[in-house]
Amino acid sequence: VWNNCLEFIKDNIQDQAYKTWFTPIKPIELTKENSLCIQVPSKFFYEWLEEHYVKILKVALTKQLGPEAKLLYKIQMESANTGKQPFTEQLPSAQRSPVKPQELDVPIQNKNPELKNPFIIPGIRNVKIESQLNANYSFDNFLEGDSNRLARSAGLAVANKPGGTSFNPLLVFGGVGLGKTHLAQAIGVEIKDLYPEKTVLYISAEVFTQQYVDSVKKNTRNDFIYFYQLIDVLIVDDIQFLSGKTGTQEVFFHIFNHLHQNGKQVIITSDKAPVEMQDIEQRLLSRFKWGLSAEIHHPDFETRVKIVEGILFRDGVEMPKEIIEYVAQNVSTNIRELEGAIISLIAQSSFIKREVTLDLARSVVEKFVKNVKREISIDYIQTVVSDYFDIDPITLRSKTRKRNIAQARQLAMYFAKKYTKASLASIGSQIGGRDHATVLHACRTIDNLIETDKEFRRHHDDINLKFNM
Ligand code: ADP
Ligand code: MG
Repeated sequence: VWNNCLEFIKDNIQDQAYKTWFTPIKPIELTKENSLCIQVPSKFFYEWLEEHYVKILKVALTKQLGPEAKLLYKIQMESANTGKQPFTEQLPSAQRSPVKPQELDVPIQNKNPELKNPFIIPGIRNVKIESQLNANYSFDNFLEGDSNRLARSAGLAVANKPGGTSFNPLLVFGGVGLGKTHLAQAIGVEIKDLYPEKTVLYISAEVFTQQYVDSVKKNTRNDFIYFYQLIDVLIVDDIQFLSGKTGTQEVFFHIFNHLHQNGKQVIITSDKAPVEMQDIEQRLLSRFKWGLSAEIHHPDFETRVKIVEGILFRDGVEMPKEIIEYVAQNVSTNIRELEGAIISLIAQSSFIKREVTLDLARSVVEKFVKNVKREISIDYIQTVVSDYFDIDPITLRSKTRKRNIAQARQLAMYFAKKYTKASLASIGSQIGGRDHATVLHACRTIDNLIETDKEFRRHHDDINLKFNM
C-alpha cells in the first residue's frame, strides 16, 4: 500500500522534496480499520508533513484504502548519548482542511538585503548555499601552541571525518581575539577541500538570529528551517549571542537535532564554557555537552612569538628578534591585538622609511596597550559624533527628525553597539530615550548607508578612527 502511495506522491511533487520528506518514512502497519501507521524520524518531520503534505498524503491514501483511510505517525527519536534506544510516540494525522496549493511547491528566493552576507534561502526547487568561508583562515595559518593544541587537533579530526567522530558537536570556546573564528573557519575550509561535495555553512549566531526573525516576519519560517536541514556541516560562531533569545534557541534546537540525528557535523564557538552560558535553555546546553568542548586559552609567550613571526613571514618583512620579543612580551591580551600592534609597527616603519627600532616599537606598543585598556563610553561616543558633525549633544539626543541630525544620532547608536557592551535597550535610553527596536533599526540603517553611500562611509571611517587611536 505504502509503495503505491509513494509512487503517486513521487509523481506529484518535486524530486528534491520527495527525497527529503518521503524516502525517510517507514511504513509500520496497516490495521483492519484502514489506518496506516508510518514511522518518521522526528516530531519536526511529522509537523512538516502535516503542514505541507497532508493533502497529497490523504489523496494517495484514499486512492489505496478508500474514503475511510486514516494515517497515524510513529515518531522515532534517538538519544545520541546512548546510541540506539529509540522511543516512539504515536500521533494522529490532523487531517486538516486542504493545504493551500501553492504551499506544495513555491520557489522561494528570500534574498535579504539587510544581511551583510546575503545568501539565498532556497525553495523546494532551487538550492544554492554559499559556504561563507574565508580561505585565509586555514589550518596552515593557524599556528599551534599550548594554548590551542587541544582545540586545534579536535578541529583537524572533525575536518577529516565530519560527523564521523565523537566530537559532535564540537564546541570551541575562549575569550575574544584568541582564534575561535579562525579555527572554526579553518575546519570549514579544510572540509571543503577534502569533501567538495559537502554542503558547509559558516554563520554567526547574530546573522542566524536576524534571518530567523526575518523569516518569522515574512512567514517563511519553514523554509528557513528547511534550508538549514540541507546542510552537512553547520558552523555557528558566537553562540552566546542567542542568550535570552528563546525563539531563536528553539529553532536552533530543532535544526541541531535534525542535523545530529542524520550524522551531520555541527561546530559551535562561544566566548564562555557551556556551564557559564547564561540564558541559554538547559536542553540546548545539554546537547552541547554531547560532543567535545575545547577551550582556547591565552597564548603563552612562545606562541605569541611564533604568531608574530608568522605575520612577518606572511608579509615578507624582517625584524630583529629583540623587537619581536618585545612586542610579544608586551601585547599579551589576545592575538587580535598582537596582530594589530605588529601591523601598525610595519606600517609606521614603512611610512617614515626607517628600520624598526626598539624605540619605535616602544611607542607603537605603548599606544596599543593603552588603547586596549581604554573604555569607550556611550557619553564619549556622543561627544565625538556631535563634535564631528558640529551639533550640540543635546540636539543629537533630541526628537528632531532633521535628516543630518537623525543620521548622526543613528551613527552614535551604531558606534555604541560596536564599542560598548551596553544592551540595545540601554543604548536607546542613553541616546534620547529610545527603545531597543529603534537602536536595532539605526544599526541596520547605518550598515546600509556604509555600503551604499560613499560620502557617509567617509564620515563613518573618520569618526571610527577616533575610537581606534
Ligand atoms: P575570536 O573569534 O576568538 O575573537 P579570531 O579568530 O577572530 O578570534 O582571531 C583574531 C585574529 O587572530 C585573527 O586575525 C586570527 O587570524 C588571528 N589568530 C588567532 N589565532 C591564531 C593562531 N593560532 N595563529 C595565527 N593567527 C591566529
Ligand atoms: Mg570571533
